[in-house]
Amino acid sequence: MRKVIVAGNWKMNKTAKEAGEFFAEFKPLVKDVKNAGIIIGAPFTALETAVRETKGTNIKIAAENMNAKESGAYTGEVSPLMLKDLGVEYVILGHSERREYYGETNEIINEKVKSALAHDLKPILCIGEKLEEREANTTEDVVKSQIIGGLKDVTADQMANVILAYEPVWAIGTGKTATPAQAQEVHAFIRSLLTDLFGAQVAENVTVQYGGSMNDGNAAELIAQKDIDGGLVGGASLVPAKFTVIVKAGD
Ligand code: PGA
Repeated sequence: MRKVIVAGNWKMNKTAKEAGEFFAEFKPLVKDVKNAGIIIGAPFTALETAVRETKGTNIKIAAENMNAKESGAYTGEVSPLMLKDLGVEYVILGHSERREYYGETNEIINEKVKSALAHDLKPILCIGEKLEEREANTTEDVVKSQIIGGLKDVTADQMANVILAYEPVWAIGTGKTATPAQAQEVHAFIRSLLTDLFGAQVAENVTVQYGGSMNDGNAAELIAQKDIDGGLVGGASLVPAKFTVIVKAGD
């Protein structure tokens, strides 16, 4: 049975102090959550606080990006060694905002995915089509090339440490969620593609999250879909009480 995992993606929000305040409120709210995995993706500057405040709890911490290289002359970048040193376990890679604003291609993202795995960090690889791609009926082509490109040279064994997040770009931060049926359709396609690429057993076990305006009102219905194994949650992950409702929907 694959795991349901609910991850927050704070994006460029929360200072270290605000992160501390979040966890003080959030930890007791989710302490009895048993089945659902809980991850918080925090900005680099809040990671140390986030790791410290969640030590020994059922909450894991993700970075929201990283450079594929270990060290060197890359001003402003953060390496997998630096994340490991802080005690970070996951890293969100290929988010549509990174693809859109920072020119990240499937090739760049693939380098990061391979580097994360080589350094024992678990990637949450984000994929998803833009509105014009959906309207042109190319959703499956886009998602397929993002998965094939992003997971190039990743082995079936390594897939045990990879999470996928299907996030239709038109649903991110817009309040416009994919309907459960629309999301399920793409998730089923992703699962069949994973079967072709890595075999049925891997495909059955990979957690595929949905992201895009998931909130405390719609999470239960989305997560109830056969191939939706949790969520990647932006706006609604900033508020402990709201994010708790989503986590519990997956528990
Ligand atoms: P949203 O963001 O929940 O605010 O739509 C999701 C994401 O970008 O991961």
